[in-house]
Amino acid sequence: MTESVAPCRAPAGAPANAIEYAFGDALPASAHSIEVAPGVHWLRMPLPFALDHINLWLLADTEGWTLVDCGLNQPATIALWEQAFVALLEGRPITRLVVTHYHSDHVGLAGWHERRWQAPLWMTEGEFLTALALYHETAGHHRGAMFDLFRAHGLDEARIEGMKIFSGAYRRLISALPHTFRRIMPDERIEIGAHSWRVLIGHGHAPEHALLHCESLGVLIAGDMVLPKISTNISVRPVEPDGNPLAQFLRSLERFAALPHDTLVLPSHGLPFRGLHARIAQLQQHHAERLGELKGACDAPRCARDLVPVLFRRTLNDHAWYFAMGECIAHLNYLMHARALIRERGADGVLRFRAP
Ligand SMILES: [Zn+2]
Repeated sequence: MTESVAPCRAPAGAPANAIEYAFGDALPASAHSIEVAPGVHWLRMPLPFALDHINLWLLADTEGWTLVDCGLNQPATIALWEQAFVALLEGRPITRLVVTHYHSDHVGLAGWHERRWQAPLWMTEGEFLTALALYHETAGHHRGAMFDLFRAHGLDEARIEGMKIFSGAYRRLISALPHTFRRIMPDERIEIGAHSWRVLIGHGHAPEHALLHCESLGVLIAGDMVLPKISTNISVRPVEPDGNPLAQFLRSLERFAALPHDTLVLPSHGLPFRGLHARIAQLQQHHAERLGELKGACDAPRCARDLVPVLFRRTLNDHAWYFAMGECIAHLNYLMHARALIRERGADGVLRFRAP
C-alpha cells in the first residue's frame, strides 16, 4: 500500500532528463479522468498519508469498465466514487475489478465495488490470501508480529509503543473482502475491450504483485513496482523473517527491463512516464548504494535499529520508523544471504550484523 511506500533519498547520478512525463504535470480533476491511451483512463483518489494520492485506471471493456485498483476505504474516496460513477462511466457498469496487490490503498474498496456492481475480483492468489490473512489478523500477519520482528532487530519499546496507534489500521482501511476471487496467473492474457493485456508478476514489494502490459498500446500498468519519484518500499514481513525481498525486487526489475524502452508506464503514485529502462537503472543504483553504505557501517556488530539512520538521514516519526525498519531489515537480509554480512543473536536476544 502507499502506507508502505517510504520515501527514500533520490538516487544520485541519474540524468535529470532520463524520465519523461508523458502528460507534463497535468493531473485529472477530482472525480474526473484523463485518457492516457485509447480506452485507458487515469483517475486519482486521495490518501491520508504523506503520499497523498493513488492513481487508478478505468479500462473500456466490452460490456462496461474494468477497474484496476480501487482506492482506500474512507469516506472521502467513497464520496468521490459516487461522483465519478456519474461523471465517468457513461452509464455503463464496472464489470470487473483487477487489484494489483494487497495493500489497503489498492484493495481497500474492492469489496465495496464488488457488492455494488456484482463485479468479480481478479487478483493473484498470493495477494488475495495475504489480504485475507491481514484482514483477519492471522498469525504472522498482524502488527504484533511485526513488532516482535522489530524487537528482535533491536527496536526499543518506547518506539514500538508509539507505533501501536497503527494497530488494526489495515482492517479499518479495507471494506470487507469478497469471499471468492478469480485467480490471475503469470503470463495470462486478459482480453479487455479491444486490447489484450498480459499479466506480469513482480516480487519484493508484495508477495505476488500483478502488473498489466498491453503490447499493442505500449502501456504498462505498473502498480507500486516501478514508481517515477520514490523508491518502492521493500520490507521484510514477519511471516517470513529471513526473507530476501530486495533480491526478489531486483530480479523483477531485470525482467521488466525486457519491455520496450518507450513503454508508457502508469504507476500507482506519481505521474505517467516514459523512460522505464532509465528508471530501472536508477532504482538498481539506489539500492546498490544503500547496500554499500550498510555494509560499510557494519565494521562492528550492529542491529537494524542502529542502522536505520544510515539509510534514512532525516528525522523519522513513528509512522516512518515502521517502514524504515522493514526496509533496513530487507537490506540487511540481502547482505546476509549474499554472505557479505554475518548475522548473530546476542545474549540480549537482539540480532546484529557484522562483516565476515
Ligand atoms: Zn503497495
